[in-house]
Amino acid sequence: MKKTPLEEWIVKRTGISPANRNELESYQFKKMIETLNYAKENSPFYQKQLNGIDLEKISTWDDIKKLPFTTGEDIKTEPFEFLCIPQSRIDRIVTLNTSGTSGNKKRIFFTDHDLQKTVDFFDYGMRSLVDSADRVMVLLPGQSYGSIGNLLKKALERTSTACLVFGLLTDLDAAEKMIIENEINCIVGIPIQVLYLSRIKKDGFKRIEKVLLSTDYVPQAMVKELNQKFGCQVFNHYGMTEMGYGGGVECEALNGYHLREGDLYFEIVDPVSGSSVPDGVYGEIVFTSFNREAMPLIRYRTGDIGAFSRTKCQCGTFLRTMKKVEGRINNRIQLQDDVFVDLKELEEILLAVEELVDYQVTIKEKAIVRIEVSFYHDEQSEETEKQIKVRLEAYFQEKCRLSIQVEVERKQLQKPDQLVNSMIKRKIRDQRVAEGDQ
Ligand SMILES: [Zn+2]
Repeated sequence: MKKTPLEEWIVKRTGISPANRNELESYQFKKMIETLNYAKENSPFYQKQLNGIDLEKISTWDDIKKLPFTTGEDIKTEPFEFLCIPQSRIDRIVTLNTSGTSGNKKRIFFTDHDLQKTVDFFDYGMRSLVDSADRVMVLLPGQSYGSIGNLLKKALERTSTACLVFGLLTDLDAAEKMIIENEINCIVGIPIQVLYLSRIKKDGFKRIEKVLLSTDYVPQAMVKELNQKFGCQVFNHYGMTEMGYGGGVECEALNGYHLREGDLYFEIVDPVSGSSVPDGVYGEIVFTSFNREAMPLIRYRTGDIGAFSRTKCQCGTFLRTMKKVEGRINNRIQLQDDVFVDLKELEEILLAVEELVDYQVTIKEKAIVRIEVSFYHDEQSEETEKQIKVRLEAYFQEKCRLSIQVEVERKQLQKPDQLVNSMIKRKIRDQRVAEGDQ
């Protein structure tokens, strides 16, 4: 098994001795202090946030763990306060669609230098799964400068790996045509879109040997299906725009991500108390960025659930491994006293249903859960609807010892262009509270 290429990359970029964990951690500590000073000097937000904290007195990781967190809400409230450079030096702004009633939008800023660091990570990250003999199709936005597809293409050019950026999946026929005509054998895309393409365009998809899934939680049922039906190796990438898109990628062991440890410092904390949890225990993923010019982030709470692996990866690297992300914290909703519904678990059941293309879960009342489903073969759907109802009711009975009534409602299959909306990270709707409170 090939060792993660991120190891060689991180050693080279940080200048540490090979396989020396202590040196890497000293490097990270030095970068942490640098980031704190840079942010406090240059960003109005961190001037306030770190006011009264004597940075010269920070000498241990325990001191770091006492620093305040940064939240998505902070960015939404005053994005420009995070800027460490004049606005004229910004090369890319990403506006994220976020739910909520405030009307404020999350804006993330990058300089060209920040974007080049992402290209560098994508270059080595992609070497985990491809080399110059492979031909890659990217089902992510790639038209504009600094978009994720655009950066990925630049990264693959460095290793002379063929890369075609298709964009989000809006036209299934065109996507299949591109695969066949260009002898594509690797796809990078959003989980539900890649699954959808594989279910409808089997002929084109049978050429695909490797898949890299990104931007949303990846249900195990999906990995299994791509694996069994097409013999695909399914790699997961973990990242978010706030990280500069990329955060970590799986090696050939396919058992969790190796992280961008030279550019980002990751922590896992208890979502309630905010204190660190031991390796192996799930909590909220928190990160700090290094060397970011436009908008450094310190102890940023991602809202994603993850855990560090306690064991060494089979690939033999000295880098840490983070277990696959378990979804979002706010996708676990209290049904009754100590009974919770977890979207991730429902998703595993729902996506195993072959005909299903999209769905929405709503908690209607204490004991009623509504599932809206869309299929692409309308003829057989009545039978399938019954199946879904039976499977989910059995799940609630078994898992929660509760009699929950599941209402399955069919929604018209959306046109493929509407499928673009499903890239928004899924959320359980809770009708028991006013919509605006969610
Ligand atoms: Zn590994």
